[in-house]
Amino acid sequence: MSFDLVLFGGTGDLAWRKLMPALFQAFRHGSLPKDGRIVGVARDDLSDDQYRELIQSRFNAVEGAKRPSAEEFEKFASLLHYLRMDLSKPADYARLADLLKQRNADTVVMYVATAPALFTQVVEQVAAAGLNGPATRIVLEKPLGHDLASNRAINAAVCKVFEEKQVFRIDHYLGKPSVQNLFAMRFGNALFEPIWRREHIANIQITIAEDLGVEKRGAFYDQTGALRDMVQNHALQLVCAIGMEPPINSHADAIRDEKLKVLRALKPWTSETLGLHAIRGQYTAGTAYGERVPGYRDEPGVDPESRTETFVALRTEIANWRWAGVPLYIRTGKRLASRDARIEVNFRPTPHAIYRAPSGAVNKLVINLQPKDGLELHMLAQAQDNRQRNGHSAAQLAPVQLDLDFDKRFGAERVGAYERLLLDVIDGRLNLFVRSDEQEEAWRWVEPLIDSWASDGGPRPYAAGTWGPSASSAMIARDGFSWGEEQ
Ligand code: NAP
Repeated sequence: MSFDLVLFGGTGDLAWRKLMPALFQAFRHGSLPKDGRIVGVARDDLSDDQYRELIQSRFNAVEGAKRPSAEEFEKFASLLHYLRMDLSKPADYARLADLLKQRNADTVVMYVATAPALFTQVVEQVAAAGLNGPATRIVLEKPLGHDLASNRAINAAVCKVFEEKQVFRIDHYLGKPSVQNLFAMRFGNALFEPIWRREHIANIQITIAEDLGVEKRGAFYDQTGALRDMVQNHALQLVCAIGMEPPINSHADAIRDEKLKVLRALKPWTSETLGLHAIRGQYTAGTAYGERVPGYRDEPGVDPESRTETFVALRTEIANWRWAGVPLYIRTGKRLASRDARIEVNFRPTPHAIYRAPSGAVNKLVINLQPKDGLELHMLAQAQDNRQRNGHSAAQLAPVQLDLDFDKRFGAERVGAYERLLLDVIDGRLNLFVRSDEQEEAWRWVEPLIDSWASDGGPRPYAAGTWGPSASSAMIARDGFSWGEEQ
């Protein structure tokens, strides 16, 4: 099978930090079809060789083992080409058409990794140049829009010229091995399904914590914020993976139908819950790993009076028969105490206690997304010398855990998220991509938060290197629970 992969934004941050390393890994693993071209597109005047040199120099910034040797890069570089285009100029698309017609590849992937403001124009001009035929697949990066209306406008423009099956809306969390294993755990094993419901689960917590600040992306982040950058897409996709009903089969639409139902079942916001169950914060100067770090408003590119949130904590509920009454907490932020993304499913305590157990200790399933990739099942067990040590009739239990580390079990050289998703696009597999109705529903749910935050007192300050504003802990404490790291 032959393919052309056109990377609009081929010199950008996403291209060199994520996409090129992922394509190289796919090449190294032998999974990239041999007969292919990867065409970087941007406005700089570069030859193919200059583009190859640029990408090679950028690879040097990629960590350790994933860095290609000179020989490896040379082989990979033969796939790389460059096309100078100004995507805002319709005339430039004719040159793209000429380049693609040289080969008429079986599959043409157009990856739109440019500023979201260009998305609609790119899609329209690609179609105007006659490049939207059945061989073409278009990949759209997040955030797709700034709110519900802009998301609808982009999706309407896309759906006018492409069929839904040609559109790959990327959410790279869905490509993470642990998220795929969450699906495998739930729908490939009979063990968890009977207890995966309100009768047995006390609460669910999703944490996506970053220890870094906004780095060099201050200007972008200040227009976006944590709600749009993390909650509307990644966190809500995790909610779907945790909350959805078993799909009737593994086809893309069967999975996406079930995810859509979860989004539709999320409790709508009311003026009361907007006040009590939605906390946002912004980091001030603090300490990260022993070093003083600046506050958000002092970061390059950020408005010194910015009201943009760098932290969000929400409490919601999936209002259906399986989940009614089970609190679902979502928390994400920058400059938090550690880099840690995980889902915790906290089970209810035993109905009658015949053992003594540490206070608050319950069964818990933890799905670790980063930095570690795996599953932990937290249980209570009796230590062997228990009776001799304390001499009580009711034995004391101690927390223990079954730990499945996917890197150790399956090898650390497993397929990464972008690698997996890029290969899926080339193969035409839509399972791990987001359908337009899912995306709209997610925007619809976050929109009341956007509206109410536009006119309130602004985000609460929290010191860099902490777990966010204290209001976040107070919110969960009102239900009698605490965040994982506080237990
Ligand atoms: P970026 O570093 O600003 O790169 C933008 C790219 O688009 C550059 O190659 C730029 O090259 C090109 N470009 C801009 N205007 C153009 C035009 N008129 N014609 C042709 N090329 C043009 O942005 P990024 O961080 O890579 O982000 C790209 C997209 O991915 C955005 O939608 C972003 O939200 C999304 N995303 C990024 C990340 C990330 O980690 N960076 C993560 C998730 C999603 P020239 O200016 O030289 O033309």
